[in-house]
Amino acid sequence: MDFRKQFVVSPGKKLKLAAIDPAQSGGQLSNEAAQPEIGKYVTRMAEMQALLYANADQSLLVVLQALDAAGKDGVVRHLFSGMNPQGTSVFGFKQPSASEAAHDFLWRAHQRTPGKGEVVVFNRSYYEDVLVVRVHDLVPKSVWSKRYDLINDFEKLLAQNGTRIIKFFLHISPEEQLERFKQRLDDPARNWKISESDYSERELWPKYTEAYEDALEKTSTAHAPWYVIPANHKWFRNLAASQIIAETMADMKLKLPPTRVDLDDVRRKYHAAAAAQEKKNGKG
Ligand code: AMP
Ligand code: MG
Repeated sequence: MDFRKQFVVSPGKKLKLAAIDPAQSGGQLSNEAAQPEIGKYVTRMAEMQALLYANADQSLLVVLQALDAAGKDGVVRHLFSGMNPQGTSVFGFKQPSASEAAHDFLWRAHQRTPGKGEVVVFNRSYYEDVLVVRVHDLVPKSVWSKRYDLINDFEKLLAQNGTRIIKFFLHISPEEQLERFKQRLDDPARNWKISESDYSERELWPKYTEAYEDALEKTSTAHAPWYVIPANHKWFRNLAASQIIAETMADMKLKLPPTRVDLDDVRRKYHAAAAAQEKKNGKG
């Protein structure tokens, strides 16, 4: 199944999240059948990341957005742990610090975008500035409504500079969110994830849905597509997201970089050095 085709938000088309079932899992597939597939994609992602790093002429940015407990942290843990930490980083967007808030909304994001050869994951992103900011009226509509165009221009700039951009909205149902909140309450190892605002934000589900629909519709482009990932089933979320990342990286046509030296010449130097070393060892 081609999940890129299936879950992409078509540019210029109306998006209704209610029409996308967050509990779907691609029909015949099961968790057991999916695990080896996920493993295969994660391995390919790691192999291609090594090539990306070696070539250092392109980069990859993965943006994760979702309501609480939809699995942003899970995607990071499951799909990116195979990559070499040298060349990979994750940045979580919290409430802006004083100095961040003193700048334009893209400032903190721009500093964290991947350099050539790098993979960067944004766990939340500058999209918060048209989501939480809009839902809570943190700035007037006249300000946030202009940000979609600014975001599109920003992403165009990154794309033209050699960055592939993949944006995931992890789509869960309110029932599934509540179930995960319960697990966080029941499991001491997860208690730390609970925040007071989880429940007040949950009340704003319809407003968030509206804000997400608007944002995804206005900013899904050929060079920075949004994908709505059905995320009630964690294994299906991982399968769909890993396939989409692996196929996007495959499009980057990554190969081993050409050798920068004359190998025959270096081989001669090696043999001379080895002979000299042997002679020294023989004397010693
Ligand atoms: P978490 O992802 O659970 O660590 O929470 C991070 C919190 O920071 C979320 O409640 C976000 O909505 C909030 N946040 C991120 N970016 C912004 C922003 N630009 N303005 C206000 N709140 C933000
Ligand atoms: Mg949270």
